[in-house]
Amino acid sequence: MSEVKTGKKIEKSEANTMDRSKMGVALASNDAEVEAQAHPALVQCPHCASVVRIVQYDSVYAWYTCGCCGGAFYS
Ligand SMILES: [Zn+2]
Repeated sequence: MSEVKTGKKIEKSEANTMDRSKMGVALASNDAEVEAQAHPALVQCPHCASVVRIVQYDSVYAWYTCGCCGGAFYS
């Protein structure tokens, strides 16, 4: 099993001010299409506690939104 770390919560008011070009989307961890992508990591959403899969493209993404609840967090 991959190690699951907990994301660092970003409040909605703060997320609204952040750079969306640096925003990645964290998908539900059972999403098969993500399997083929590079460097996936499992993160627990600090908003809804779902375990979601993020793809780490060499610091392209600075923050993520949860595919389950839409909450924002840092990985
Ligand atoms: Zn969530």
